[in-house]
Amino acid sequence: MADFQALAREISEYDERTLRKLKRDINAIRQELGDLLDDFANKDDSINQRRLGRLLSELDSLMAKQSEVIFDDTTEGMSLAAKATALFLVTHVNDKWNQYVLNVQNDLAMRKWLNDLSLWDRSRIISGRYGDEIRSIIRQGVYQGVSTSRIRRQVREIYEGTESNLDRLVVSEIQNTYRLQFGHTNKQNGQIWIQFNEHFPASKNRRNHECYEYAREDPYGKGPGIFKVDDEKIYSPHPQCTSYLSIPSFVLGGEA
Ligand SMILES: [Zn+2]
Repeated sequence: MADFQALAREISEYDERTLRKLKRDINAIRQELGDLLDDFANKDDSINQRRLGRLLSELDSLMAKQSEVIFDDTTEGMSLAAKATALFLVTHVNDKWNQYVLNVQNDLAMRKWLNDLSLWDRSRIISGRYGDEIRSIIRQGVYQGVSTSRIRRQVREIYEGTESNLDRLVVSEIQNTYRLQFGHTNKQNGQIWIQFNEHFPASKNRRNHECYEYAREDPYGKGPGIFKVDDEKIYSPHPQCTSYLSIPSFVLGGEA
């Protein structure tokens, strides 16, 4: 019998690997911002007011680059998750199936999801928020004549205080990709039943999550958590959801 939890564990490794890479890349952008501040600093470490406009426009380009980094790193993790899921299904469920790997860029990353936002939109929004806060720190700092080292410290605090936004984005996108690919490969190969399984690593308010409900629902009288591939809600129950999918045993019975 296929070990569907093993696939789910492999997917969470992609979450972590992607987050590590993204945080490294964001760190490099923060370094670039530090260098930029150095370039604009006078001997006494302050920045001239008349150079503020140019500094802020350099900041804009850096934040645009940052949103591309967020998008690229996340889609790379999503691709790995999609490929691993499709490969798992043809290897462990039915070797006569085709993989039907989704095109992550076109099928998922540019498509609008929750709140009508695509990953592309969300990467820009997250990066734009950093940009807004950093911009006001720089502007205020320049008018107050504070040192660039102080500005740099405040910028670091912003990044450190908002790391959880990146966690949320990356984990949500990769987990959704995995579940969507799981459903897609099954559907394309003509297998319509999917079992939805909740997975809460020590979550205190699990009962408030959609997945708690879904795992107990029995919409077709086939057993709790058993849905059809077209029931879209099982693919992205809520942000950062790590629920995993399997194929019900009544389907696997004949094939195992
Ligand atoms: Zn959940």
